[in-house]
Amino acid sequence: MTMLYSRLVETYQKIEGTTKRLEITKLLVDLLKETPADIIDKVVYLTQGKLYPDYLGIEIGIAEKLAIKALAIVSAVKEPRIADEYKRRGDLGDAAEALLAGKTQVGLRNERLTVEEVYTILDRIAKSSGPGSVESKIRQLTSLISKASPIEAKYATRTALGRLRLGVADMTLLDALAHALARGKESKPLLEQAYNRSSDLGFVARALASGGIDALRSFKVTVGRPIRPMLAERLSDPQEILEKMNGRAAAEYKYDGLRIQAHLSNRKVTLFSRRLENITDQFPDLHILLNQGIVGGELILEGEAVPVDPSTGELLPFQLVSQRRGRKYELEKTIQEIPVALFAFDLLYNNGVDYTQLEFPRRREALAKLIRRNERLDLSRQIIVTKPEQLDDFMQQAVADGCEGLMIKSVRPDSTYKAGARGWGWIKYKREYKSEMQDTVDLVVVGAFAGRGRRGGTYGALLLAAYDEKDDVFRTACKCGSGFKDEDLAKLLEILEKYKINHRHARVDSKIVADTWFVPGLVLEVIGAEITLSPIHTCGLNSIRPGAGLAIRFPRFTGKYRTEKSPEDATTTKEIIEMYRSQLKKLSETKSVEAA
Ligand code: ATP
Repeated sequence: MTMLYSRLVETYQKIEGTTKRLEITKLLVDLLKETPADIIDKVVYLTQGKLYPDYLGIEIGIAEKLAIKALAIVSAVKEPRIADEYKRRGDLGDAAEALLAGKTQVGLRNERLTVEEVYTILDRIAKSSGPGSVESKIRQLTSLISKASPIEAKYATRTALGRLRLGVADMTLLDALAHALARGKESKPLLEQAYNRSSDLGFVARALASGGIDALRSFKVTVGRPIRPMLAERLSDPQEILEKMNGRAAAEYKYDGLRIQAHLSNRKVTLFSRRLENITDQFPDLHILLNQGIVGGELILEGEAVPVDPSTGELLPFQLVSQRRGRKYELEKTIQEIPVALFAFDLLYNNGVDYTQLEFPRRREALAKLIRRNERLDLSRQIIVTKPEQLDDFMQQAVADGCEGLMIKSVRPDSTYKAGARGWGWIKYKREYKSEMQDTVDLVVVGAFAGRGRRGGTYGALLLAAYDEKDDVFRTACKCGSGFKDEDLAKLLEILEKYKINHRHARVDSKIVADTWFVPGLVLEVIGAEITLSPIHTCGLNSIRPGAGLAIRFPRFTGKYRTEKSPEDATTTKEIIEMYRSQLKKLSETKSVEAA
């Protein structure tokens, strides 16, 4: 059984002629009913202007110039005229139709184009690369257009350019499939479920067409096919969050990185982004981490990849990991300078068991057993909460550790992994404000932490404090490991030598225990992303909220040694409290401007 391309084109024309969704669905239902089971996937992909599911990243996208060349060959019209025609009509497909309309293609069209044929040629175009590929693409497209009727040429050209743009959404196709091949509306949830667990409409269509509704009922998650991610709702009141969760929930650090869905199959690692793009090649370091740190054969897990400072292990701003994108040749360097840590937060599949169907506590428990935790591969930090205060405290810790808030997750029996859905099973609880720190601050070095890796033998990070005039003490505001060049590290070892003592100085107020302590003396200039509440720093303790101090988030040494300043000239805790307040004020102003 076969299907003519003209049948597809007839549907395309009608779809373009209407704006009514119901009518589009009806047209698709008619088409799909007539489509043989073994090519239904191709019909589905082609109707969306593609050849494969998006996650494979295979695009047809022939260049306009090449398409014009092919059209010139078939129509015997000169290229500049085709370019003019294109300019006039604004669409090369329309131009192709017009150019070929005048031509009689006797002899060329004794056979009519089938869907398979069109698909195969487009596939060759999509996959040809390397030397000679330009000629090969022109040849392929020429052969396709020469066999096409003018109207077929219009759609084939558009598809080859990657610009079919019929606007048939995933949900419309799922609707149409449900009506054409299953029990209509009633079957839609099953189809959606299969789609959410495979991200592949063609695959779902083919399973349904060949195995019927039962094939969808037993549809399995497969390693290699990404699962559409579960998404969270958002709330800003801890009390409300707990009520939504029936009074008990798992709270996790919300890491500020890149969501990664990792598929492992006998040491082969495939990584997908939040948008299900294949990003395997951008994270060779994650392959190693996962292969060394995960026990077991075939599995799918999700986690957040966060950039870390290699010498201190501290989390760094998300932007640093986004630089991994598209810079292949510099990848090696970036990996060394800014490695990532992976915090796994969910398990979706493991050796034949579809974990998406199990409740969250069971998934988490199984995940914990699979991971050999180390500095760079760990579980997302989690506690079980029943009180709003616990959420607030945990939030402060999360922010102090470089996270952007919390993810609160349901632990009820119905807490399965809801692929592709945003729901109340997960709630994101972010800090209410976010604003840039405008000014630098001058802080006093009161302690230090030993460096690791490349910074072995020097300091990995310094413990910095602000001056509290009232009590004449120094209260800690951050641990700073960024912004130091190699020469700074050497210089600091030397300068700080004379301040070294073997215990915390009596004028230093710190909850953190440093590896090395100093007499407060050296002042450094630092800039951060913002000032946040902190459970571990003592600067401004209790001034904003009981039990909380203030910290500088993502602090970075500017390169300036403020040797002209005595430690008592450093930025005061009072100033930092003021900076925090003005930050909040600025935020509420921005909010009211936005609201107006
Ligand atoms: P959304 O993903 O909800 O559409 P978004 O892309 O703007 O929104 P956020 O609002 O920052 O993302 O929040 C959701 C994201 O938080 C997740 O997609 C995931 O990348 C990240 N995340 C960090 N830590 C966790 C965690 N412990 N559990 C789940 N997601 C986490």
